[in-house]
Amino acid sequence: MAKRDYYEVLGVGKGATAEELKKAYRKMAIKFHPDKNPDNPNAEAKFKEAAEAYEVLSNADKKQRYDQFGHAGMGGAAGGGGFGGGGMNMDDIFSQFGDVFGGAFGGGFGGGGNRGGGRRVFKGSNLRVRVRLSLEDIANGVEKKLKIKRLIPAEGLTYKTCPTCKGAGQVTRVTNTILGQMQTSSACPTCSGLGKSVDKRPAGTDANGMIRKEDTVSVKIPAGVVDGMQLKVTGKGNAGPMNGVNGDLIVLIEEEKHPELEREGNNLHYELYISIPDAVLGTKVEVPTVSGKVRISLDAGTQSGKILRLRNKGIPSLESYGTGDLLVHINVWTPKNISSDQKKVFENLKKQTEFEPQPGKGDKSFFDRVKEMFN
Ligand SMILES: [Zn+2]
Repeated sequence: MAKRDYYEVLGVGKGATAEELKKAYRKMAIKFHPDKNPDNPNAEAKFKEAAEAYEVLSNADKKQRYDQFGHAGMGGAAGGGGFGGGGMNMDDIFSQFGDVFGGAFGGGFGGGGNRGGGRRVFKGSNLRVRVRLSLEDIANGVEKKLKIKRLIPAEGLTYKTCPTCKGAGQVTRVTNTILGQMQTSSACPTCSGLGKSVDKRPAGTDANGMIRKEDTVSVKIPAGVVDGMQLKVTGKGNAGPMNGVNGDLIVLIEEEKHPELEREGNNLHYELYISIPDAVLGTKVEVPTVSGKVRISLDAGTQSGKILRLRNKGIPSLESYGTGDLLVHINVWTPKNISSDQKKVFENLKKQTEFEPQPGKGDKSFFDRVKEMFN
């Protein structure tokens, strides 16, 4: 199910004041409160949805991030805990009630207790880099050293333990109810659950004390990749703020056009041009492949349009075993400008029956050859 817009959930406009947000949330919370809607999972879902929306929109930092990036912006900071995936749990919701209801609902039900979520962790953002590969690199696989500029913590950066939660990342609230004392815990509001904040950061760094530094990453690119494909190098993106987890490096594959070979899936095609005498007499020619030139023999009487298949001279399959073929298309070159002597030779040949086209069983038609290629 797609996540609904937080403003829509609370039924307020983007310009809503803190007071209006609180009011709107109160209305929703009372309407969908589980006590009022026993055994109604739909109401509970709405209740949680409203609580999550309020949790974000009532926090200046989170609100700004949400306004800028939408739901996508909320995932990063949440890391493994908090929300983003399954939403808030009931403990979180009721711990929030103290602010909204002045204790009226607070801890009024549920078992209370610790949610035991622990600290949140920031993940660094992903870096993207393009890499241009020759057909030879793609056919053989290649290791590339990529220069990237990553955000890393600057030298001299120090953190301090959050004074509110003493580094735990969560705060526990004790409320007095008619049933006795209830304990609820939630993410620390001072440090957003990280347990620490930047203490000293050197000049020229960003708010998290990070700087951009050039780095070289060695990436092994397997044989058989395709133009447009993306490879992920885990942990080689920007460092996560506050000693968080590194983002990933996304490598976008670009295939350079080969001057002579044409790629079609894992097969390669090559257009070979031979002279009329070579076609008649037979010859040996060199053909380019992705692993150097190979010599092939052409029989005497080779027809134009013939296709030679050089097995396993194509591109290895990335997903399975096997390698494509190199298909050599024979073209007999017909000269346009010839001397009068040469003309006489051809006029002489013209009269001879051997030079009359006699396509027989041995010479497959173009369509037969195409059919054969795909079988
Ligand atoms: Zn804290």
